[in-house]
Amino acid sequence: MNPEQWSAQFGERITRTDAATIRRYCENVSGLQRRIAAVLYPESTTDVQGIVRTANEFRTPLHPISTGCNWGLGSKLPVRDGAAVVDLSRMDRIHEVNERHGYAVVEPGVTQRKLYEQLKNTNSTYFLSVTGSGPETSVLGNALDRGIAHHGPRAEAISGLEVVLGNGELIRTGSGHFAQSKTTYLYRHGVGPSLDGLFCQSNFGIVTKAAIGLIAQKAFHGVLGCTIDADGKLPALVDGVAALIRLGILEPSVHLSNHQRTRSVVGGILGQRYADHYVKQILDEELRGAWSLSCPLSGTPAQVKLAHHEARAVLRRIGEVTLTTDRTLRVAKAWCRILSFLPRLRRRSCFLDAIEPSYLHSKGIPSDTALASIAWPLQDRTYAPGTDLDATHSGALFVLPVVPLEGEAVRQVMEITEQVFASKHGFIPYVTLNSASRHSLEAVINLLFRKNDPKEVDEAHRCVDELVRVLMGTGYVLYRAGIQSMGHVVDSASPYWQMIARLKDVFDPNHIIAPGRYNFV
Ligand SMILES: Cc1cc2nc3c(=O)[nH]c(=O)nc-3n(C[C@H](O)[C@H](O)[C@H](O)COP(=O)(O)OP(=O)(O)OC[C@H]3O[C@@H](n4cnc5c(N)ncnc54)[C@H](O)[C@@H]3O)c2cc1C
Repeated sequence: MNPEQWSAQFGERITRTDAATIRRYCENVSGLQRRIAAVLYPESTTDVQGIVRTANEFRTPLHPISTGCNWGLGSKLPVRDGAAVVDLSRMDRIHEVNERHGYAVVEPGVTQRKLYEQLKNTNSTYFLSVTGSGPETSVLGNALDRGIAHHGPRAEAISGLEVVLGNGELIRTGSGHFAQSKTTYLYRHGVGPSLDGLFCQSNFGIVTKAAIGLIAQKAFHGVLGCTIDADGKLPALVDGVAALIRLGILEPSVHLSNHQRTRSVVGGILGQRYADHYVKQILDEELRGAWSLSCPLSGTPAQVKLAHHEARAVLRRIGEVTLTTDRTLRVAKAWCRILSFLPRLRRRSCFLDAIEPSYLHSKGIPSDTALASIAWPLQDRTYAPGTDLDATHSGALFVLPVVPLEGEAVRQVMEITEQVFASKHGFIPYVTLNSASRHSLEAVINLLFRKNDPKEVDEAHRCVDELVRVLMGTGYVLYRAGIQSMGHVVDSASPYWQMIARLKDVFDPNHIIAPGRYNFV
């Protein structure tokens, strides 16, 4: 179809085919190349249904995005060339915030910032578990790609999905299809086979509304920290954490970062405020650990005190244990200010300001501070806060295997990563490990490269491809894949994926929605 035909078929109000728009949607932080045909901006579920029906008529593939910030995994791009991107960001209504049961019913365009602000402005007793990605990312988009937020996986917190299927039909999951249901957002399975899971990491439909569970604010909140001084202690730290989770002392929302990752996050923040040599001095003084752990602790003061005490008893044999609270942070900052005539404490004050956003994440306050961690190590001056990461010279690719919560497994994954990244391809692995369940961690292995250097782009992609292959071959299956890695997770010879392809025929017989996304059709 030519541009006029697109507008004629899908409507002028929601269709863009101009070169500038197409270019903007093709820009991506991962150095990927895909062709897209148009960008469509529905404003309602009815618009989405209209788009899907027309797409069926013309056999036009559609790639739905909520806000399209899927950085490191493909950004706004489809898996295959030729789709029209359906950008749902105009559908950004918060239909309900339920203060009794703690959920919000939202559309795909609702961002972390929008929901955070609504909860704050209404003095809600709940908060959203935020991701480390930017405030303008989508709550539902992240959940539908099975993203992991500070207090755990988002996909497990969504319920009552409203979905426009690939054939244009509208369905509601759980008990939402019973007109009088009082429990659509309270009991996600409904009655009979549960369909919710079919719409995460899938290409069966476009989700237009769902509830996201919120977290109740507690009387007392803190963050347990533990820093180890050598990589060799990581297995013991992981096993210590696993034991504490098993005993119910820690919640399964632990986060571990290697030295390079912590340095890139704190350096990224400081780098926007101070000269390079000063930033380096602060980082060298403050960040000595090989790995650092953080885990939110909240409850009554007595509960937090007890959990801290028990966790400390286990972890202090392995590393240096801390507890950060509003009060400890406030007092430390005040002392540093009072004694700021001492250069060492002036630098410490800068450091405390830089780590505060990470602490605030644990309380549901989103920020874009971590985004600078992509550009800062590359010394990319095209990035500044507020810039679209996709439009900079910075390159990032994520490899995301799920790893058993066992010291030995984590050691092996890190050994493989070091071998492939550093020894073979010359890249630094920036790694975080986050709870994916009570028994597993997602490893976020981040490769940074200069996107304006074609050779480096090529090397980065070969490195990631090799790491994915080796990890999958060793049994560390990805929990989420970049669009360039679908071939590593989907196998047309496997009975499992053949069944997924048959389901595609049920929901989307003309293969309209996101061809190739977690599917071979
Ligand atoms: C520094 C940094 C930190 C990050 N931290 C985190 C983190 O802590 N946790 C995390 O999970 N990610 C993280 N990310 C990765 C990413 O930025 C987030 O996952 C982000 O939320 C995804 O973008 P989005 O919310 O705009 O979702 P989208 O890009 O809109 O959606 C993601 C995918 O889901 C599908 N999809 C979206 N909406 C729909 C719909 N309505 N119907 C059907 N399918 C749909 C599409 O295939 C789409 O490609 C981070 C990235 C960076 C660079």
